[in-house]
Amino acid sequence: MSSFGLPAGTVTQAPAPDLIDYDLIAPQLSGGKDSALMMWLTMEAARVAGVVDRVRSYHASLGLLEWPAVTYAGDRWPGVSELAARQSAAFGLPADRHIEVTRTLPAPDGGRLPHSLLTEIAAYGRFPRRGSRYCTKCAKESVVSAAWTPFVTRHRKETGRPMRILKVMGLRREESRDRSKLVPYRNVLTNSARVVDEWLPALTWSTPAVLEWCQDHPDLRAWTYDSVPGAGDWAGTSRCSCSYCVFGSKRDLLLAVGRRPRLAALYDEVETVRGDSFRPDYRIHDLIHLAAGPDAPDPGVVCDDSGPEFDALVAQVRAALARPPRKAVDLARRSAGLASCALC
Ligand code: SF4
Repeated sequence: MSSFGLPAGTVTQAPAPDLIDYDLIAPQLSGGKDSALMMWLTMEAARVAGVVDRVRSYHASLGLLEWPAVTYAGDRWPGVSELAARQSAAFGLPADRHIEVTRTLPAPDGGRLPHSLLTEIAAYGRFPRRGSRYCTKCAKESVVSAAWTPFVTRHRKETGRPMRILKVMGLRREESRDRSKLVPYRNVLTNSARVVDEWLPALTWSTPAVLEWCQDHPDLRAWTYDSVPGAGDWAGTSRCSCSYCVFGSKRDLLLAVGRRPRLAALYDEVETVRGDSFRPDYRIHDLIHLAAGPDAPDPGVVCDDSGPEFDALVAQVRAALARPPRKAVDLARRSAGLASCALC
């Protein structure tokens, strides 16, 4: 903040951005309820400013780690990536302006292969923690930032000045202690090629207000929020991004174990081989036992998690585990305390 109470270094010198000041308005969709709300707020603001043509939405896909599509009682319910695309289209953005990105690695045939966050965890040797939240950086922020690069390069060539990017996210203060400290508008990066400001238009929305807003948009709602797909009772997981978020609540994690047992077994393998626990307070190994107990929440639905894509993930993770970890295991066992997810 400047001495006048205005955000320091932002393109618009005001408490909130004027969207007309930006070359690219980039909402980042997670596929969850706050993401849908944020997309609506962004498009409303872009319409008022007359700059809808500058909006491009992004979804950093976590592949098989995010909540997948399921079939329940004969109906198919979309997974997180599909929901992110729906959320973008629902408020008027053409399909070719929604961009799904994912982390990849060079493939032996010269192409690119998806590089899962779980493979990265297996290779690194420890799970993300507060103070080392590398998951959001490597699987989301850096991937979206790289997707901006062609626009940034072209813009610099055409105008001779840095591209002004407004990154828009759906974080809300009520969600956690970490998020309660966030400011709605700030500069996050300035260099000779790009100026990136962050805007959180849903920051002060209360949870009841968001749930009420969601009632009018049932097609944009993730099935995992409910006890069973379509129940509409909000009795499922409280969040919807990685099924196994290292900052998730115990209940969310128990539901994830019940709903995705094969993926739980793969996390358990990483935990066992590397000797680090999934979280400082819970091992996946113990959650698997707890999820089978009488006090565990009813998963309601079990995801298939089979087929060539899942087999490829298992093979990739095991290949990473067969090599020495990049981080020493004794360091890996140290924990840095609990946190809530600050970015997803
Ligand atoms: S959902 Fe959780 S584990 Fe997944 S990238 Fe975000 S913070 Fe990391």
